[in-house]
Amino acid sequence: MARISLVTGGTRGIGAAISIALKQAGRTVVANYAGNTAAAEAFSAETGIETMRFDVGDYDQCVNAVNAIVAKHGSLDILVNNAGITRDTVISKMTRDMWDAVIDTNLGSCFNLCKAAFDGMKARKFGRIVNIGSINGQAGQYGQVNYAAAKSGIHGFTKALALEGARYSITANAIAPGYVDTDMVRAVPPDVLEKIVAKIPRGRLGKAEDIARGVVFVTADEADFITGSTLSINGGQHMY
Ligand code: NDP
Repeated sequence: MARISLVTGGTRGIGAAISIALKQAGRTVVANYAGNTAAAEAFSAETGIETMRFDVGDYDQCVNAVNAIVAKHGSLDILVNNAGITRDTVISKMTRDMWDAVIDTNLGSCFNLCKAAFDGMKARKFGRIVNIGSINGQAGQYGQVNYAAAKSGIHGFTKALALEGARYSITANAIAPGYVDTDMVRAVPPDVLEKIVAKIPRGRLGKAEDIARGVVFVTADEADFITGSTLSINGGQHMY
């Protein structure tokens, strides 16, 4: 069924693979992005997927975006909160702004969009929500108190939301990727990355498509009994 789907940060990296996989699964997809218009235009031209620019950390922009999608397409059935940023450094050097940016974009966004989408899903008695967490929210990571806190928060948020959504056939699940070959990971210094890959039992970085496959699985109509779970996709690096 052409369920209407919103993928935040859906024009690059993991999000782009999720948008494409959902489209291939027969969904109507809107891919959000923050400001890289060139990448969004190239993605849209290549895939035919609609794009929508807004800041997931801004509550009003999120409400307006969800309302616009429902007005145009009639519903919002699948919400994938994928957009995320890093602002890494040790706590002694981390500024309050670095903390706020990561919490607002990675975790505040989940509240903003789930809040905006939930009542419509409830009225239609169907919803699939996927929040992209991280191995570093499960295990912690040096230089990432902001990111680890935001991602760990996503896991708790998802479980609580799953309880609220269950009676309305709204599922909420988290996916915790390990290290995936995207721009975010390419920003990690090569010597650090080499040590990380050495610790992945599967012996390689993840591919964006590895994560997208999990999203398609938990957003299927048939996945009605999968809720409140965290699906780790990390090549065996961390078993939670
Ligand atoms: P990328 O940096 O490759 O892409 C990030 C995407 O998010 C871009 O489309 C970007 O838009 C968008 N974005 C960033 N900030 C905002 C914002 N404020 N509002 C709207 N969109 C925004 O990231 P990845 O693909 O690597 O990561 C995707 C998700 O997976 C993130 O949540 C990340 O934390 C998580 N993750 C990634 C891992 C990895 O190894 N790569 C591991 C574990 C988790 P624009 O193109 O306009 O900049």
